[in-house]
Amino acid sequence: MLDPSLRQRLQQTKNITVFTGAGISAESGIPTFRERFTGLWANTDPQEVATPEAFRADPQRVWDWHVHLAGTVRRAAPNAGHRAIARLQEAVGRVTVITQNIDDLHHAAGSRDVLELHGNLFRLAPFVDEEALFAGERGPLICHLCGGYALRDDCDPYAGREDLACLRLEAGPVPRCPACGALLRPDIVWFGEPLDPHVLGAAFEAADACDALICVGSSLEVEPAASIPYRAIRRGAVVIEINPAPTSLTEHADAGIQGNASAVLPELFREVWG
Ligand SMILES: [Zn+2]
Repeated sequence: MLDPSLRQRLQQTKNITVFTGAGISAESGIPTFRERFTGLWANTDPQEVATPEAFRADPQRVWDWHVHLAGTVRRAAPNAGHRAIARLQEAVGRVTVITQNIDDLHHAAGSRDVLELHGNLFRLAPFVDEEALFAGERGPLICHLCGGYALRDDCDPYAGREDLACLRLEAGPVPRCPACGALLRPDIVWFGEPLDPHVLGAAFEAADACDALICVGSSLEVEPAASIPYRAIRRGAVVIEINPAPTSLTEHADAGIQGNASAVLPELFREVWG
């Protein structure tokens, strides 16, 4: 699959970053985030419902749409590609996974160091209503429990972590933070929202520090995530791309392997690390 000199360079790496996109999740049956559902939500465009404006206007509708999405994602299991990436931890000193996916399948496969650029569907976060904040309806105090904005007189100091931990993305009314009463939402990056600067910063650091980067199943069309493999190239790291179709990265990578992650990754890793 690889020429011998490239194989040797990979065998000498001590720090690998794996960058994954929607392609690897699609092989587990997860639709891309921009895809419409069939059935009940067939007429709903994700770009109209996965936004802070939509949540502000109708939180329950947006919550229900995400509950439906979570149902699809919960039925999916990691595939041979996810499992091969997790096994890489045993062969290489340090492996960091940067993913554009929100489905938690890298953790489910056993990867420990995962940077989720677009968040995690199964984690909840307080909805920060910027309009209310600017209008002075909410104070600048940070809720001790959810990290959202609270007013001193409406935040219950006795609410604890366990009260928050029992709330999940499931059918029913939109849950509220047990301490401050803020509406909770899935902790993912909606359309029109910026990436978390801490996660993005950590991803840039991982790309800068690695000696090999493996790019899997990403069409690399969305910035700033798309620039991550190029940072590794500029630092002289080995860059391998695995994708069913060529992308803008293919001609700049040390090797571009056309195929699906679940077929290519196990074979590639067996060839290099045995
Ligand atoms: Zn709170």
